[in-house]
Amino acid sequence: MGTKGTNSETRILLYYRFTPVADPTAVMLWQRTLCESLGLRGRIIISRHGINGTVGGSLTSVKLYIRCTREYPGFHDMEFKWSPGSAEDFPKLSVKVREEIVSFGAAEELQVDEHGVVGGGTHLSPTQVNELVEQKRANGEDVVFFDGRNAMEAQIGRFKGAVVPEVDTTHDFLREIESGRYDDLKDRPVVTYCTGGIRCEVLSSLMRNRGFTDVYQIDGGIVRYGEQFGDDGLWEGSLYVFDKRMHMEFSEDSVPLGACVHCGTATNTFHNCVNGDCREMVLLCDACAAAPATAHCGGDTCHAAAS
Ligand SMILES: [Zn+2]
Ligand SMILES: [Zn+2]
Repeated sequence: MGTKGTNSETRILLYYRFTPVADPTAVMLWQRTLCESLGLRGRIIISRHGINGTVGGSLTSVKLYIRCTREYPGFHDMEFKWSPGSAEDFPKLSVKVREEIVSFGAAEELQVDEHGVVGGGTHLSPTQVNELVEQKRANGEDVVFFDGRNAMEAQIGRFKGAVVPEVDTTHDFLREIESGRYDDLKDRPVVTYCTGGIRCEVLSSLMRNRGFTDVYQIDGGIVRYGEQFGDDGLWEGSLYVFDKRMHMEFSEDSVPLGACVHCGTATNTFHNCVNGDCREMVLLCDACAAAPATAHCGGDTCHAAAS
């Protein structure tokens, strides 16, 4: 390959950028060739609204990847988040064109220009989030935190007092925000949040389009907020992550919010229901997960199958 680093250091990159992509297929082919030539593995999605990716490889390769990717004008100022890991953390390289880089089912509605999503919530740094909360409180008003993730993720961690919509996949958000259930929030300050910020870029714009008037989003999402404030701010519990770690904590003071579905013991670890036909992700304590009779999700069918 000739691109392998002289040392064995490796990294994972996480990144996204909302920007108009005139020819997503051309960008996909270019990105695939680039990643193959650098020996990177991971998953990249390209749509006419931008790019969303996570790739791993040698330090030398990921540095070259950043330099080459930024040559595309729309990706010029894209931020890359570095994380420990390597190509081996991914089964293969997947570079695909999709209708959306995050699947809200709103490809026709989403508007992007060279600055990003058009009409999204106001971007706040973690410090500005705390300032907003204090400032509104001084006026006798409470800021509402609105969870932009799947409801399952919020079981183990969320902003204090957050509203958690009933969402199994991101596709459910449109139904939720159109349900009328959150109409009392339309004139209140609402801070949307998600893991790294990408889902709220879209969600906050969909909410504003539906009459939510005072919408914010956190730059860098929970990850950046937690890096800055740990467990001494407005965040509580563990952060659900989409890799084999399953969850992470920002400090040793993290309070477990999750509870085993069978015995109520505090836990922040999800397991797949032991029933192969179910595979629902469920919170189990170590003891219940280890026992065949309780390694299931608690659903009637799975309970019967286990006993
Ligand atoms: Zn248990
Ligand atoms: Zn089950």
